[in-house]
Amino acid sequence: MRAVQLTEIGKALTIADIPIPAIGSSDVLIRVSAAGICHSDAHYRTGISKIDRLPLTLGHEVAGCVEQVGSSVTHLSAGDRVCVHYLVHCGSCEFCVRGLEQFCRTGQMIGKHRDGGYAEFIKVPGVNAFPLPDEIPFEVGAIMMCSSATALHALNKARFKAGESIAIFGFGGLGFSALQLARALDSGNVYVVEINPAKLASARSMGANAIDATSAGPVEQIKEATAGRGVDVALELIGSAKTMRQAVLCLGPLGRAALVGLTAESMSIHPYTELINKEVEIIGVSDHLATELPALIEFARSGKLQFPPETLRVVDLDAVQINAALDALQDSIDHIRTVIVPTGVE
Ligand SMILES: [Zn+2]
Ligand SMILES: [Zn+2]
Repeated sequence: MRAVQLTEIGKALTIADIPIPAIGSSDVLIRVSAAGICHSDAHYRTGISKIDRLPLTLGHEVAGCVEQVGSSVTHLSAGDRVCVHYLVHCGSCEFCVRGLEQFCRTGQMIGKHRDGGYAEFIKVPGVNAFPLPDEIPFEVGAIMMCSSATALHALNKARFKAGESIAIFGFGGLGFSALQLARALDSGNVYVVEINPAKLASARSMGANAIDATSAGPVEQIKEATAGRGVDVALELIGSAKTMRQAVLCLGPLGRAALVGLTAESMSIHPYTELINKEVEIIGVSDHLATELPALIEFARSGKLQFPPETLRVVDLDAVQINAALDALQDSIDHIRTVIVPTGVE
């Protein structure tokens, strides 16, 4: 089969002709219909994020059709449409048994620690393959399993409830999903904090209150818009100490700030006046859980989570096209997601 692989760190991906993986009794073989090209893939290629071995087939955002089913897999049959949970986990350690597989001691990420979906076929454990309803295009089924799933996990970690107000710092891929998912959960007012005019306009067109952080401090603007109270939940999706601090300061009493963006910077907080007095919480968010995916899939099936066609760009399973897409990702500021759709596949 064709696979586009990372063979050397810092170099372009290359096309390879490799055997179709042989499956074990608990695995399924999936014919890949769509594989999202993600920012983390660009980081694996440059070496910013470390991978375990070379050569490696990248791609952790995968949807397709079941081609073969292992003898012990009972919930799927050949021909089923599926999307893939990218974290392969042991299922039996102290974290897995509690449904917290992101802390599994032997967890492996597809497309990082084991071969991913930049290929015609991928082998995954059956438990990682989730039925994909007909209403959801394969392209959407692939990309929602990364940023949308993490956005939903952030809302869950923040214990976001119907009617609550929310501030979303950063309107990239995560924010685009977080806004729709907050609405799907019957949010109160949504404030999107951005500096990019096109993203502010996009957030406004999707029903959010756009907070232009270039015009005045976002905390002051949110306080003013909420009659001095602040919001119930804030999501920091940028990865900067400055906006993390703003996410904490824009909270009202009992507010929760969920931090998703990655940074090595330190954040200063005055515990008495900024945390204790208001009983606010700062919550770390990492990845997402298998148990959250059925709800996510249902939001996409019912149209509450959408990726309009103009936000998707399709390339072939072709090294030149994929490398170009990874190059473009490194400095992208738009909402366009590029998805590999192998030709010759449905
Ligand atoms: Zn991703
Ligand atoms: Zn485990």
